[in-house]
Amino acid sequence: MTAAPPADLIARLIEAVAATVTAHADELTALDQAIGDGDHGLNMRRGFDAVLAERDATAAKPLPDALKAIGMTLVMKVGGASGPLYGTLIMTMGKELAAGATPADAVRAFGAAIDALKARGKSEPGQKTMLDVLVPVHAALVADPRADVAAIAAAAADATIPMKAIRGRASFLGDRSIGHMDPGARSSSLIIAAVAGVLEG
Ligand SMILES: [Mg+2]
Repeated sequence: MTAAPPADLIARLIEAVAATVTAHADELTALDQAIGDGDHGLNMRRGFDAVLAERDATAAKPLPDALKAIGMTLVMKVGGASGPLYGTLIMTMGKELAAGATPADAVRAFGAAIDALKARGKSEPGQKTMLDVLVPVHAALVADPRADVAAIAAAAADATIPMKAIRGRASFLGDRSIGHMDPGARSSSLIIAAVAGVLEG
């Protein structure tokens, strides 16, 4: 039971997240067709395909630099609204983890990254966005670092179904956005589950 070397851990995180995004690309597209412009699955898949293509070079970097590189790739390759949002989230985590990378540091960095995302998206929880998954997952980790974040994220994504969209393209639909899961909330829950699966392994 030796700890995995960091490079191997980064590579496995990249592989796991890219695999889940690819496996669920059609589902993300269908969710975005219901209340957006239908590009979320394709955009996310393109972005994480690019991250996967750079896996070895990224995994050779220290964790903060690896996260910054992943975030930059997502900004450039995902596009739409999600690219800058996911890019901001992951790049901020990288910046915040430069001082240390204990589990407590990671939870604190996640919180700082959520704050950066709120500022970037001019959004708050309750508006039917990825924040409605990220914020409750962070709160759960603050309360208990061993929280079952995959289950919490899945439940939080489900909880966006009855919400009315206030931010993003779905907000143009007003009440007609009610009854559909937010695509960004779903992709966030998928990514969190994949990361948790690797870190728990
Ligand atoms: Mg879209």
